[in-house]
Amino acid sequence: MSGYPPRRNMAIRFAPILIAILMGLMIAARGCQEGPFGRLQIVGMDAQQEAALGLRSFQQVLAESRVVERGPIPEVVAKVGRRLAVASQSPEFLSAIGLTIQKFEWDFRVVASNEVNAFCLPGGKVVVYTGIIPVAETEGGLATVLGHEIGHALAHHSAERMAQQQLVQLGQSAVVGSMQDMDPRQMQQVMAVLGVGSQVGILLPFSRKHESEADHIGILLMAAAGYDPREASQFWERMSSATQGKGAPPSFMSTHPTNERRITDLQKWLPEAEAIYEKSQKQNGNRLLPGLRADIEQNTESPFFPSRTGR
Ligand SMILES: [Zn+2]
Repeated sequence: MSGYPPRRNMAIRFAPILIAILMGLMIAARGCQEGPFGRLQIVGMDAQQEAALGLRSFQQVLAESRVVERGPIPEVVAKVGRRLAVASQSPEFLSAIGLTIQKFEWDFRVVASNEVNAFCLPGGKVVVYTGIIPVAETEGGLATVLGHEIGHALAHHSAERMAQQQLVQLGQSAVVGSMQDMDPRQMQQVMAVLGVGSQVGILLPFSRKHESEADHIGILLMAAAGYDPREASQFWERMSSATQGKGAPPSFMSTHPTNERRITDLQKWLPEAEAIYEKSQKQNGNRLLPGLRADIEQNTESPFFPSRTGR
């Protein structure tokens, strides 16, 4: 018996662990969890439920869309996406954003549409519309878009929005049942909260806080994946000028409202991102996205490049 410490000592030794477990349970019961950059967030559903909902919505979107299965655009989206997905698991990146490893099942798909949009559903299901390719312009620009979208998903912004909009129960029933069995209006609501956008007819803008967090996570993630983080502000400037004078803004800008602080903040986070970029395996982010030069020269349908032959 001499090898075992007395029972009282054991209790003292394990007391902090017990208290931590109890506190963790209490926080979980209230639907709270540790969010990005050390803030507490109220989510109301766990990551598994959120991912199941993401998967359902993903299947729904793909079933209703013209998915581009093969070709250079899906290839480059998958390539850049994969790099970001790998980087999202790196301990250095996770400690920079203050989150622990998350089990995402990544899937990157391209939908043929003039719509300027892209989103990442909970659990890592990403949809890129071909309409955003000319604005993304380069692989680094695409890494900015995907990094930002993945940022929303890593930060569980959807679950947080579900709680804010009091749609948790609805979301949970969508996971258990079939999405097609749902009231179409309710289904629209749930998908809008997940960030699907105009495809369901409701554009629900992300809050300023969520936008800022997704930008911060995005710029660190692209840097960790080896894309020059200076590309981020260049992309947002391209996006703003592509939007000016075009009447209704594209869905991407409606769901990701921008403001003059975005560029300032991205510049502020640059030193932090560059430190991560220094240690990364560098990518050629300047490479033009496929088909783009042809689009510009042949003056195809792209709404972002004025006619070269007209006038
Ligand atoms: Zn956003």
